[in-house]
Amino acid sequence: MSMHKNEERLESLQKSYEQYKSQNLNLNMARGKPCPEQMDLSNGMMDVLTSKDSLKSTDGTDLRNYGGLDGLPEAKELFSKILDVDTDEIVIGGNSSLSMMHDSIAQAMMHGVAGGEMPWAKQDKVKFLCPSPGYDRHFAICELFNIEMIIVDMKEDGPDMDQVEKLVRVDESVKGIWCVPKYSNPTGIVYSDEVVERLASMETKAADFRIFWDNAYAIHHLTDEPKEIKNLLEECKKQGSPNRVLMFSSTSKVTFPGSGVAMLAASQENLDTYRKNISFQTIGPDKLNQKRHVEFFKNVDGLKAHMKKHAEIIEPKFRAVIEILDQQLGGKDIASWDRPDGGYFISLDTPEGCAKEVVGMASELGVTLTGAGATFPYNNDPKDQNIRIAPTFPSEAELRKAIEVLCVCIELASLKKTVRAS
Ligand code: PMP
Repeated sequence: MSMHKNEERLESLQKSYEQYKSQNLNLNMARGKPCPEQMDLSNGMMDVLTSKDSLKSTDGTDLRNYGGLDGLPEAKELFSKILDVDTDEIVIGGNSSLSMMHDSIAQAMMHGVAGGEMPWAKQDKVKFLCPSPGYDRHFAICELFNIEMIIVDMKEDGPDMDQVEKLVRVDESVKGIWCVPKYSNPTGIVYSDEVVERLASMETKAADFRIFWDNAYAIHHLTDEPKEIKNLLEECKKQGSPNRVLMFSSTSKVTFPGSGVAMLAASQENLDTYRKNISFQTIGPDKLNQKRHVEFFKNVDGLKAHMKKHAEIIEPKFRAVIEILDQQLGGKDIASWDRPDGGYFISLDTPEGCAKEVVGMASELGVTLTGAGATFPYNNDPKDQNIRIAPTFPSEAELRKAIEVLCVCIELASLKKTVRAS
């Protein structure tokens, strides 16, 4: 664009900006929360434990009492299907997989991992590989435990495995890697078979290395063609390193985020270690909630049918975001965004050095986005360009308005940058 055209466009965008400002908007797209209509899909779950029989597990355990440390057999049966493992390869926990991840790291720091020689915290330094952009709460756990985070680039089919293999091969202090293998938070990418195989077969200097395989969106498809990933636990077993992986998931975004059921799948040795550690923390999880889930879904087909209803509610929202981005920013060469087939987010890249400014401008107009930088370790996006969009919670009308505002902010910030540079 010529200098004159730039100035004209800047003026028109600034006018739109002021117009939006006068509308006193209050729209929030910061966190990936299900909307009320999605949660309504599971209201029936509150009514399923009606008979005296339904208060007993299939093995006779009275669900109201203490016990059942690692989960009900029927819950293992159902939820093992989410992670594609055997029923004896899974532990069913409380309501949060994030707390299972936090606890697994805390346990590794304090007591070491199965087969490890020393607690991580007693070793000189602990480092984790963090494919980025990634999930801010993973990074927050590392910061809490003073685990040094190393950024690894994210490619179309998972982390850059050349970088990963190089780092784990030479450095004994690299103890782990965070992975969201399907419909990743925030980029929506799905790990390829090759990436899974390389993760299982790579040589690690640390014998006590662990892959934190957070499959939070395993069944959260947006299309009728669900993406499947290779089973990392199986691959690790084939390679003779079954202890390398800890797999997590939950029903937080299947039923209720506050009252879902979380799960951890792993080798027998890893599960034994986990069970021993949690036996000091709890006498058992909420078995009534596990049973409620099983009674409500009945089987994996029930679970799949339920997820289709979620997709019917949220897919139009994802489509609306992409449509507006395409219309308003397409072909302008100032931003790029994903078209995810599942999960909860759309990741958008602004021109370098603009993300903080865009998020700040949107906030001034009453549109709250996830903080710029949040998708990188230490809250620091080295190129200051990534923005995470969470389309599920707002209504479609609110969402449309919020994305229109976002587009104006992106174009404005990018044009200001061009004008400044010229
Ligand atoms: N992992 C990922 C990748 C997530 O996006 C989220 C929710 N935003 C969680 C874990 C949280 O899971 P839970 O509710 O089971 O603690």
